[in-house]
Order: sequence, then C-alpha cells, then structure tokens
Amino acid sequence: MDADILVIGGGIAGAGVALEAARRGLDVMLVEARDFAWGSSSRSSKLVHGGLRYLREGAFGLTRESVRERDRLLQDAPGLVEPQRFLMGHYAGSSPSRRTMAAGLAIYDALAGRRTRAFHTPDQVRALAPHIADERLLGASSYLDAKTDDARLVMRVLQEAQRHGARVFNRAAVKSLLRAGDADAPLPAPATGGAAAVPPGTVVGARIEGAGFSGVVWARCVVNATGAWADGLRRGLGLPMLRPLRGSHLVFPLWRLPVAQSVSLLHPRDGRPVFATPWEGVALVGTTDLDHHDHPDAEPGISARETAYLIEAVRAAFPRLGLGAADAICSFAGVRPVVDDRDHRGDPSKAPREHVVRDEQGLITVTGGKLTTFRVNALDALRHAAPWLAASPRRGGFVPAPPAGDVAAENLGDVAAENPGTVTSADDFRCRTADPIFAPQPATPELLALPHGLRSRLLGRHGANAQALVREAAPADLECVPGTATPWAELHWALRHEQVRFLDDLLLRRTRLGLLLPDGAAALLPRLEPVVREALGWSAGEWRDQRERYARLIAQCYAVPPP
Ligand SMILES: Cc1cc2nc3c(=O)[nH]c(=O)nc-3n(C[C@H](O)[C@H](O)[C@H](O)COP(=O)(O)OP(=O)(O)OC[C@H]3O[C@@H](n4cnc5c(N)ncnc54)[C@H](O)[C@@H]3O)c2cc1C
Repeated sequence: MDADILVIGGGIAGAGVALEAARRGLDVMLVEARDFAWGSSSRSSKLVHGGLRYLREGAFGLTRESVRERDRLLQDAPGLVEPQRFLMGHYAGSSPSRRTMAAGLAIYDALAGRRTRAFHTPDQVRALAPHIADERLLGASSYLDAKTDDARLVMRVLQEAQRHGARVFNRAAVKSLLRAGDADAPLPAPATGGAAAVPPGTVVGARIEGAGFSGVVWARCVVNATGAWADGLRRGLGLPMLRPLRGSHLVFPLWRLPVAQSVSLLHPRDGRPVFATPWEGVALVGTTDLDHHDHPDAEPGISARETAYLIEAVRAAFPRLGLGAADAICSFAGVRPVVDDRDHRGDPSKAPREHVVRDEQGLITVTGGKLTTFRVNALDALRHAAPWLAASPRRGGFVPAPPAGDVAAENLGDVAAENPGTVTSADDFRCRTADPIFAPQPATPELLALPHGLRSRLLGRHGANAQALVREAAPADLECVPGTATPWAELHWALRHEQVRFLDDLLLRRTRLGLLLPDGAAALLPRLEPVVREALGWSAGEWRDQRERYARLIAQCYAVPPP
C-alpha cells in the first residue's frame, strides 16, 4: 500500500492536513489509533475564538490569524460553528477595569474588521445574566466570538477530505516508522519514485496495526499529527518538545446554571480566566490548566482538586445559585499538546499556544496549535512537506489547489490524471483566508422542508451528506432525543456511515449524548440496544460487554469526584 502523504492522527490537526492535501489532488491516507477526535479535539472548551487572553500576552499574530479563521468558519459552516457572545463583569477594586477591557476589545475588533464590543450598565447586566454576582458591580463588557461541536468539526473536515479521495481509518495505530535503510525498507524505497535521492534514515512510511487497517504504508511524506503523543513518534529523531497540560470542564444542566451568554470570570484564587458557556443545552464550566503526568494512553479525567477549583469559580460568579459538584451532569478532561518553551515552566497558563511544525528526516510533526486555526496549521505542515513531495513525483501527479467547491469531488481524480508530474512547491500551500474552508452546500428540497434550525444543524455538521442523512431517516428519526437538540437520525447515520466501533465512539464523539444526559445517557441504552446491535452486528454478549465497558469509562473518567 502506498500514498503521497500518510497522516498519523485523526484529531483536528490530522484531519486538516488530510483535507488540504486531498483537495490539491494528493493521494492521502490517514490513520487514527483510537477513534476520530479521541484526543484533545473532542475535549476542548468548544470555542472558535481569536483568544482575547492571547492578546494580553502580546500574541498579536496568533490572535489575528485566529480571528480570521473564526470568521471564515462562521461563514462556511453555520450550524456547526455559531456566534457566541461573551460577557465579562467589572467590579469595584477588581481587574480587569472597563478601560483595560475596552482597549483590548478595540484591538480585537480592529483585527476582525468589525465592531462587536459593547458596554452594559449594571441593570443591563442583571437582565442579561440574572444570577451573576452583583455586589460592587460596575457594569460589564461584551464581545462576539464563536463556538462549535469540536468532535463534529473533526468529522466534517474528515468527510470533506474523503470527498476529495482521502482514505481514513480509525482503530489503526502506527506502531513504528519505516525508515529508508531499515531491514524491511531497503534502498531504493519502492514507492518513493526518486528513491535514489532519499538518504538512509529518511522516514518513508509506517508499520500500522489495527482493526481499521493493518500493514505497511509507504509514503512520499509522513505527517505526525498525534497531538500530545507527538514526542513518542519523534523518538530517535529529535528531543522531546511537548509539555502536556490537562484542562478539565464540568457540565451543568442549563436549568441549574442558566447562562444565555458565555460568562467570563477571573478565578478568585489566581486570576485565571474561567468561562461558563451555554452549549448544546447544557452549561460548560472550564477550564483548568495543569501539568499532566499520566501516560498519554490513559483516558484523562478531572481530579478532585480541579473540581473544587471550578466549583469555587462558579460560586464566586453566581453566588445565589448555591452550585456544588453534585449539580454537575458530568465532567471531561483533555490534554493540550503545548510546546514547552522553558520560559514559562512555573505557570502553565502562560505557556505559548502557537502551533509548531518540525521536519525531522521527512517526518513532519505538527502540534501545539488551536482547534480554531486548524487550516493555517495544516497548510504550514504541508509547506514543510512540499520539498519531500517535490523530490519524488507521484505517478498521478500533483494538482495545484482548486478553491474549495469549484471542482466537484468526483472530478478531482480526472484533474489529477490530466496533470501528471506537476511538482509541488511550498507556495502551493499558501494560506489564503479568502478561500472557503468547506464547499458551500446547496439546500435541496428535502432539506428546505425541514425547520430552519434542524436544516442548518444538519448542513453544518454533515455538509454534502446532509441530504442522504435526511433521505435515510424515517420521519420519527427527525425528532430529537428528549432533552437534547440531537435528532435520532444523526445517531442512525453515525452507526451506518461513520466507523463506530465502540459505544463511546457513538455517545461521546459522533453524538455528544453521553455528555449532555446524566450517567453518560445510560437511560437511552435500552432503546439503543436493538438499533446498535442491528447496525453493527453485535450479539447479545457483545452488547453486554460494550455496555459494561462504557459504564466503567463513564464512572472512571467522566463522573464528578466530590471536591
Ligand atoms: C481543555 C482544552 C481546551 C481547549 N479549548 C480550545 C478552544 O476552546 N478552542 C480552540 O481553538 N482550541 C482549544 N484547545 C486546543 C485544541 O483542542 C487542540 O490544540 C487540538 O484539539 C489539538 O488537535 P490535535 O489533532 O493536534 O491532537 P488530538 O486531538 O489529541 O489528536 C491526536 C490524535 O492522534 C492519535 N494518535 C496518537 N498516537 C497515534 C499513533 N501512533 N497512530 C495513530 N494515531 C495516533 C490520538 O489517538 C489522537 O486522536 C483546547 C485544548 C484542551 C485540552
């Protein structure tokens, strides 16, 4: 098996590389060891944001880039990426002052090229956020950013990559890299074309094991997009560069923590920003930021100390609500692949959040960035990959970028065949903010017949597949799972088309029901049993094993330990 580019890791970084490479006619294969978005890409704060706090740290470039990509995503993926207003109260004797905030927001607006900032009097704040602490309240500033369903964003990017011909597999782990001159990779390497130019030790592929795909893959270029695992694959090629930082969230029912805006607050203990954000009918409170010492393969979970820290924050911001850990539906934790700059050893929150790309003997590592800027990060990785791609032309050739949407996916193969031998250069991977990230989706009559909110949701999350999803759905499946905005049809679609192999794939990432309903949506399981067993061909015994495994996972990693 061979490919132009082998992408290791099915989080947002790998998905982005797969899409941008496949869109340019390259033959792409992506392998994910566990499940798509299993890593930090399903455990983020779900914000598509410029990152106001990065501005405070002087990271103007990162903020500008993020604001532009945020606006591009808002335009290209409504229903998946949605505007979200943020509210920050000002209190007598506390920072930030109205003036400081106004100055920061003026820069933020200038970078976006439009004004979204506003100031609200104490009475307006009480109306906008009725339960917010109002002793010594001087007013609040607000501004617009955006939020998303992070795991579905990954799936949408992967789906677009597949439409452009990328082959993607979950439960397929890279066990080791294949390097020119290895016993099983003699020089010249068969699939690399210009093998004579490949020096010994160059990364020319990988050995892969898993349920999704097993075997050796030869590639002209290998991209390491394994997030917090990136140092593991780089062993023998470079010194470790990551400082894994855990961030945890608590999830509250909206009726218990009713927020219409995302309320930002500075933690009373250390002044770190913490958000309470409405999301999918619940309120997310987070995040923490601390060094994570567990093995990366162990699923992370919130600690009792983090629970106490977040509860302290919401109690300070919403004192009248009397919130406690027992009010939370669940928790979730993720590990940020932050690049260790050694200057901010003491304070994790000050460690830089910019992405980093390294080329180490043909292994292109991309890590450390944000969900929001996945396209910028992907194109940067591909610019580093370009010399390796150019050094060994593929039989089918390389096609310069067609802007998203102007060439039907099914025609891309023909375009590639008509352009044999075109050589890549880093310039072919320039990031042009004006280019769409996703192809625009026309709303067909079936979709137009749906209520606006549902139509927008399906188009945003499923893009070109939205129409097929609706066609496959029985009318009753367009109803939502009680207590959520998730139509049953999304669950059925995932089971049939989205490589679901475990219950947590279905309930924690393809849908988010396991985070939105108590006990990981345990009450739904009796109704799901016949549907899941039929779609995945599980016996009664397999269903029981899966259910027990899932219950253990929820209890160990998603429950809320008492502070
Ligand atoms: C708590 C928290 C909050 C955040 N909030 C935000 C936010 O609000 N907005 C924002 O823009 N960003 C946010 N981020 C940052 C963002 O989530 C991450 O930077 C991003 O998800 C990283 O994506 P990734 O693809 O590099 O890594 P991951 O999503 O971790 O993906 C790496 C994948 O590689 C796979 N893998 C590992 N080893 C192998 C192997 N050998 N073979 C095959 N596959 C392998 C893993 O299973 C994993 O799925 C947050 C991060 C955290 C942790």
